[in-house]
Amino acid sequence: RAKQLGRNTLQYHDGVVSNSVDLPLSEQEELRQAIVSNQLFLLYQPQVDVATGRIAGLEALVRWNHPTKGIVPPVKFIPLAEETGLIVPLGLWVLNEACRQARAWQDMGLTPLTIAVNVSPKQFADPDFACHVAEAIDSHRLSAHWLELEVTESVIMQDAARALSMMLSLRALGVRLSIDDFGSGYSSLAALKTFPFDRLKMDRSLVEALPADKTAVAIALAVISLAQTLKLSVLAEGVETDAQLEFLRHAGCEEAQGYRFSKPVAPEEIGVMLLARGA
Ligand code: C2E
Ligand code: MG
Ligand code: MG
Ligand code: MG
Repeated sequence: RAKQLGRNTLQYHDGVVSNSVDLPLSEQEELRQAIVSNQLFLLYQPQVDVATGRIAGLEALVRWNHPTKGIVPPVKFIPLAEETGLIVPLGLWVLNEACRQARAWQDMGLTPLTIAVNVSPKQFADPDFACHVAEAIDSHRLSAHWLELEVTESVIMQDAARALSMMLSLRALGVRLSIDDFGSGYSSLAALKTFPFDRLKMDRSLVEALPADKTAVAIALAVISLAQTLKLSVLAEGVETDAQLEFLRHAGCEEAQGYRFSKPVAPEEIGVMLLARGA
């Protein structure tokens, strides 16, 4: 299907536009290189128990150490990875790296805690995904319940039946599932009831306006109460201020994540925090 159009032109094949050979590396090719030549790395952001202030979990967040551009945030390359299908090998790398790090922390004698990994729609639609998860857990000798997979609503909106069967396979392995960015999109109540989620992550856009904005307050209270009714644990994303944290504590939100506690940091820094936590 690829048309040979000559030098310095774009070739179209498999739905992907790529540069011909004598142009500088296309972004896509650069990203492919990044995955195979170890330019990606993970930062970890603590998820804190609101009642006790203790770290209860960590979210792994990918970064790209680009040879000329420096550190590139995920908003700049995850969409391209998703479009081109590179998200599948990229996501597999993230999953394995997070499991490797979790094993390393456990080997240091630190109390185990949940590691959350973001999974995008194309990864979730890959029929081999559950196998990849099982292999990552096994090869790092992790107990499945320390792994949490974060998906957004878009994952279940595309092919609900397939998404449900994937979720059931993952649940059968013992991994936990959370719905990410809840309150930023359609926020379908039916989806929460139909799909076997363990946890709801309330989007930063809702948390941002707390506690001054009365509408935001009403929505946040409704989301927390909904989560409680459906027996989902609830975590607030993007908590930056004491006032937000106080509001969330009174509202019965169990966990929080945000700059109020820590930005995403390197694993060495997490190690230091966890040692302090253990003491
Ligand atoms: P997300 O999963 O909702 O992750 C939370 C984002 O909010 C992170 O941005 C985090 O740094 C940021 N954040 C946390 N606390 C605060 C806060 O208090 N204030 C503000 N302003 N921001 C806060 P980051 O690391 O840039 O990631 C952005 C998005 O990229 C993630 O949103 C996730 O959707 C995606 N992403 C990151 N890593 C991966 C990955 O490994 N795989 C996939 N598929 N997506 C990823
Ligand atoms: Mg997330
Ligand atoms: Mg989120
Ligand atoms: Mg978000």
